[in-house]
Amino acid sequence: MDHILGAHMSISGGLHQALLAGRDAGCNAIQLFSKSSNQWHAKPLQPDDIACFKKTREETGVWPAMIHAAYLINLCAPQEAAWQKAVDAFYLEMERAEALEIPYLVVHPGAHVGSGEEAGIARAAKALNEVHRRALGFQLKILIELTAGQGSCIGHRFEHVAKIFDQTDQSDRMGVCLDTAHVFAAGYDLQERYEETLHLFDRQIGLERIKAFHINDCKKELGCRVDRHEHIGQGKMGLAPFSHLMNDSRFIGLPMILETPKGENLEEDRMNLATLRGLMQEKTAAFCQIPPSGI
Ligand code: ZN
Ligand code: MN
Ligand code: MN
Repeated sequence: MDHILGAHMSISGGLHQALLAGRDAGCNAIQLFSKSSNQWHAKPLQPDDIACFKKTREETGVWPAMIHAAYLINLCAPQEAAWQKAVDAFYLEMERAEALEIPYLVVHPGAHVGSGEEAGIARAAKALNEVHRRALGFQLKILIELTAGQGSCIGHRFEHVAKIFDQTDQSDRMGVCLDTAHVFAAGYDLQERYEETLHLFDRQIGLERIKAFHINDCKKELGCRVDRHEHIGQGKMGLAPFSHLMNDSRFIGLPMILETPKGENLEEDRMNLATLRGLMQEKTAAFCQIPPSGI
């Protein structure tokens, strides 16, 4: 098994373009939005879109893909109409992911907007129960992303995520996406206290719940509660956390996706992937295949 490295890719020009860009950048896996990330509505996926995506998946071998849900969706919304809208929009994301045979849909738990953390957690769990009920027989797993804890967002404490799992009926249909920058911004030390942090995670949530990583450096200091990503090794985290992760055999086989700043071309992704691959010690690197470039 390999370390599966990749990056979030644009879907401009069609969903399959994300896979092609992934191949060009040297990704093993990718993340994409299934629609515009800051709009509620989307044109339904056409059979042609789905066929083209599956064909490109075969051609590129870039897999797995994971979908990041739209940022508008707030599963914690205290107000009924807003919560219903979020649940409907999230279920739509699930349908799109399932149609594309994408195994993971990443979502932030949401913001309690003044109702309090416990209320927000209960609301998120209720939403997850509702979509699981609707999505009978779906293969995909919902991945709850650990957050930086900006504003009234929940999900920045391991306890929050543990409680969401506790309050969800079919929690085996869910996992966790660990975003390194968010966890660091939330105040968990991945530099000096890497093992302690993971031990705490294991006690409170369970390491086996981690199904994917977002690999980002953090622009601001430990505990800043600010969600600003930086290139690997160029933020406040230093290289140590990434070196630990790249050589941690517990996480071999899990997708590790960059969400670092990028422009039009893929140079930044290539740079960050090279940094990560460079951190792998020989033993790990020997197992790690870099897919052929598509250029
Ligand atoms: Zn996210
Ligand atoms: Mn993330
Ligand atoms: Mn973020």
